[in-house]
Formats: sequence, C-alpha cells, structure tokens
Amino acid sequence: EKGIDHSVVKDFKLAKDNELRFEVETNQRVKLVLLDGSAELFGTELVHSRSYIFESGAKIAVFTWFGCSIRLTGKNEAAYVSKDTPMIIYLNTHAACEQMRKTADQEDIRGPRIMVVGPQDVGKSTVCRILLNYSVRMGRKTTLLDLDVGQGGVSIPGTVGALTVERPADPVDGFELKVPLVYHFGHTSPNGNIKLYETLISRLADVFNAKCDYNRLIKHSGCVINTCGWIKGQGYQCLLHAAQSFEADVVIVLDSERLYNDLKRDLPDFVNIILQPKSPGVVERPRDVRRDYRDSKIKEYFYGPRKIYFPHAFDVSFQDVELFKIGAPSLPDSCLPLGVEQEDTHTKLVPVTPGRDLVHHILSLSMAESLDENLIETNVAGFVVVTNVDVDNQVFSVLSPAPRPLPRRYFLIMDTRFIDINK
Ligand code: ADP
Repeated sequence: EKGIDHSVVKDFKLAKDNELRFEVETNQRVKLVLLDGSAELFGTELVHSRSYIFESGAKIAVFTWFGCSIRLTGKNEAAYVSKDTPMIIYLNTHAACEQMRKTADQEDIRGPRIMVVGPQDVGKSTVCRILLNYSVRMGRKTTLLDLDVGQGGVSIPGTVGALTVERPADPVDGFELKVPLVYHFGHTSPNGNIKLYETLISRLADVFNAKCDYNRLIKHSGCVINTCGWIKGQGYQCLLHAAQSFEADVVIVLDSERLYNDLKRDLPDFVNIILQPKSPGVVERPRDVRRDYRDSKIKEYFYGPRKIYFPHAFDVSFQDVELFKIGAPSLPDSCLPLGVEQEDTHTKLVPVTPGRDLVHHILSLSMAESLDENLIETNVAGFVVVTNVDVDNQVFSVLSPAPRPLPRRYFLIMDTRFIDINK
C-alpha cells in the first residue's frame, strides 16, 4: 500500500442506480474498498472487503444497482456521487444482444457483432468493456476487436488486435491479455496509413470469421468492436469499412447525432444503428494526457502493471535480423512513363538498414518465418524498443519483455517512439 495517503479517508453511501466517480491525483494512489452492498466497476463485480488500488491518473466510476457503501483512502480529485448515468441504457443494450446470442445458439448462426463508434473521449472503450463483462458474466466467450490504434486496448498503441474474453476484466488491471492476436500498424492514428489500416481491418475480420467457423461458442457469442475517435472524412470511411468487413449488425453511436445520421444513410437497413448518450462522468482528455496515457501503456507492456516485471536488455546483431518499414513514398505521376499506372506503395515492404535514427523506436517482431509469408498481414510475437545503435560494430541494443534469443528474425518499424525514463 505504498504511496497511499492514509490520512485521507472518506466513506460514501450510494443509493441504488448511483455511481461514485473519482480521479486519482498525479503521483498518488487510491485504495477502494466495498464495505457494504454490491457494486461494479465498468461491468465487473467488486468483491466485498477486498482492497483495489488505483494508480495515478486513473478515472474510475463505481456503479451500484442496489445500493452500497464504499471507502476511499488516498488523495483523489473531487470524488462525487452521481445519479445521472446511462448504465440502465447500456444494460438494456446488453439484454438485447444477449437475446440475439440466444437465437444464435438455437439456430447455430453468428451472434451479434456490435460496433461502438463516436468522437474522442465519449467512453467508447468503457462501453465495450461493460458489454464484454456483462456477456462473459452470462458464460459467453465474446471477442474484443480493438481498432483504436491511438489507445491500444488489446496491446500497445500503434496496433490493432483481437482478444477473446473469457472472464470479466480485473477492476484494476483490465482484461487478462493472455493470448491476444496483434497486428502491427505503426502509427497512433489511422491517418498514418489509411490503406494499411483498412488492410488490417479486413485481415482481422477474416481471422475472426475463421475462429467462428471452428468454435461455436465464439461464433454465437459475437464480438464487440472498439473504434477510433476520428469520425470525419477518411476517418468516417474507415468506420464504414470496418462495419462492412465485420458485417456489424449493431452499431452503437455515442453522443453524436451527426455521425448517427450519416451511418443511417450509408449502412444497409438491416444494421441496427442506435444513438446513445455518453456518461457525464467521462472527462475529456487534453492532448498531453492522451500522450501520457500512450506512454503508460507502452511502459506497462515492458514493465508489467505496477512495474512488477523488469524488461531484458540485450544486443542484437544486424546480421541476425531484417528490418522493414511499411509504405514507400510514391513517385509523382510526372515521373512515370506514359500509360504506366501508379503502383500502390502504401503497403509495400521497404528494407531498412539500422541507423542512429532508429533509437527509441518500437519494433514489432513478426511471427512470419520466411519472407514468403505476407509480413504485413502476419500477427506479431511482441515488441522491443531500440535503446542504442552501434553502426561500427553492427549491433543495436533493445529492451524486451522476453529474454534472448529472439524467436523470429523479421522486424517492422513503428513510428511510435518510447523513451525509457526508468533507467
Ligand atoms: P474513449 O474510448 O471514447 O476515448 P474511454 O472509454 O477511454 O473513452 O473513457 C475516457 C476516460 O473516462 C477513461 O479514463 C475512463 O476510465 C473514464 N470514464 C469512463 N466512464 C466514466 C464514468 N462513468 N465516470 C468517470 N470516468 C469515466
């Protein structure tokens, strides 16, 4: 319980359908204990008398269907109880989806494919978490498909991925990331490479469909698709592409009537599009908070939650690996011979010789065993961060969650950088 200010203790009594919201102050920790009654945190039931310790910056809401009392210990920003929450709406959505799953069971058809869309900071990831938690509490095995490359719900930012959820999220650490399927994107906005982003979405949809084909429980349970908050222009086109690729049959639009109307116009009639309010508890995060959050996700990848692990540091010889970036700059049309079409260079693999400019970049280690496999559409084994490049000796140093040796040889370079300030 290090870092908790024990002089600050406050008890809260919540009436039914109320929610306690708080934010942990910077460099502080807050302990939460359910003293009495029942409560849940983003859809996970809290265990009576257990200590849940939240880290600096966490934004939390604890909701109760029947009333409860809660004790908070430690410095937090403006903890307050509110009765203004859309939880009942989210519960109804869950009930409707569960009905679809029952039909799926009976008729051996696909369960609901639910896509959650909306602008930044409206609680999309939170709604996904709530819906997933409720479904697995009913014994389902629902898959989270995370297309939000800015936040990285299944792995680090700059990736998309799939995770079949088998048990409710841990109130503090979130879903257990046992075997997520992760694909390298390399940027924190789809804007970084739209063509690649759409290619990866199609790939994820194929992989999920294949999973549904051999596992009935997964097929009937359906999926929840989290998306990016970029909803204008090409961002909107990406949402349409995702809805089509996954054949979404429920689209939850959070807090944007405009987006709702656009989707109503552009998606087929059989798609159930619903406009829902965001929770007043969700706070907008300024750009730097968002960046800090990304950094903390990457740090957590290398150091584990609450820094319980320590990453391995070792040297990699240039000759043992091959590095690529995805996408080459395209030639201006005027440079092409007459009648020759511009080749699509956005998903082209470009070999890279390691140089000093690689320092701090994150590299994704591809699962591909040979270059005959399509590296772009192959999932990744994990990530390392480059800490030094020694061109004279033809080695670079990395930080890696796993010890040597590297299980594969092909690396994809991310735009994303991580500066390890723990050293
Ligand atoms: P989005 O996915 O739309 O960017 P998130 O689901 O990540 O939004 O929510 C943004 C932040 O708001 C998160 O830190 C989350 O923990 C917090 N949050 C979500 N719901 C609530 C709530 N009801 N009360 C307080 N904070 C909340």
